[in-house]
Amino acid sequence: MTPPTTDPTLADLARRATAHRDRPAYGHDALISCDRLVRVFSADGVEVQALQGLDLLVREGELMALVGASGSGKSTLMNILAGLDTPTAGAARVADHDLLAMTAKDRLRYRREVVGFVWQQTSRNLLPYLTAAQNVALPMQLSGTRVRRRDRAARALELLDMLQVADCRDHRPHQMSGGQQQRVAIAVALANDPSVVLADEPTGELDSHTAEQVFTAFRTANERLGTTVVIVTHDQAVAGEVRRTVAIRDGRTSTEVLRRSEVDAETGHERMVSREYAMLDRAGRLQLPAEYTEALGMRDRVALDLQPDHIAVRPDDSRQAEDGRGGNGTV
Ligand code: ADP
Ligand code: MG
Repeated sequence: MTPPTTDPTLADLARRATAHRDRPAYGHDALISCDRLVRVFSADGVEVQALQGLDLLVREGELMALVGASGSGKSTLMNILAGLDTPTAGAARVADHDLLAMTAKDRLRYRREVVGFVWQQTSRNLLPYLTAAQNVALPMQLSGTRVRRRDRAARALELLDMLQVADCRDHRPHQMSGGQQQRVAIAVALANDPSVVLADEPTGELDSHTAEQVFTAFRTANERLGTTVVIVTHDQAVAGEVRRTVAIRDGRTSTEVLRRSEVDAETGHERMVSREYAMLDRAGRLQLPAEYTEALGMRDRVALDLQPDHIAVRPDDSRQAEDGRGGNGTV
């Protein structure tokens, strides 16, 4: 039997192999890259797989949100990116630092100079006995770089001013509102001019109006200083304001939504359009959003069709096809 004509020739295969070799490595131009990241916790003999092969790339200068149900692995990921925890397997790099291969000394420097973080509990972000200005100056004082005291104070004030909390500079945390404390916390996170600011549910304890102000502060930092910002949030309003939202499900990134503004051809008004994306992993696996599959009653097997410019995914139609062919009527 002659092979089907669609079989690749040796020349085809050689061409493909060359193309593959010339393709840049995964995440080579990303500021944050997580490649099949795994984190397994064992507690009392029970293993919990908090991250199950998570892939994520974040470009320099992005402002993005991570969303997902409670227990999906968001904080585990943030703790790893913050240099507070180490993954069980996989690869994670942030600004050219290999998070699996840092010495204790590297790790300390990484936490002081490469990343800044803002946690949900306002009390975890600021020292209670220092004023706002002193809290912001402290990381500069602790970092190896010898910034003069006067310059530290000036930079602290500049940051507080940029985030619209300059009036709190001489206040201790208990004299500030929750929203003011979080904005001061962002200034603390920015003190040493980090590559990335990570925030784990920073507006979780705030009402929606205050949350909005805190979010504006993250956006200001991103736009004015170019700092890359990754925010874990439950807040749909916050998730709705960033260009990119990545969903985490069962310890993996599942789908993501990208938004961009577009001018409506009819009205001439600018409007935001969003589009849902999914990550295709190396094995070709793809997770479809539950709303999509449920809307069409898809489960188990689905039918695939390769089209010139897309792949169609349809509910399994093999049963009808067989019935249509006039099977013998048994189930
Ligand atoms: P999220 O922040 O999305 O709510 P987490 O990352 O906190 O989720 O947790 C993911 C899973 O890992 C959960 O099942 C949680 O119970 C478990 N987990 C997180 N931290 C630990 C730990 N230190 N020890 C044992 N299990 C943990
Ligand atoms: Mg969490």
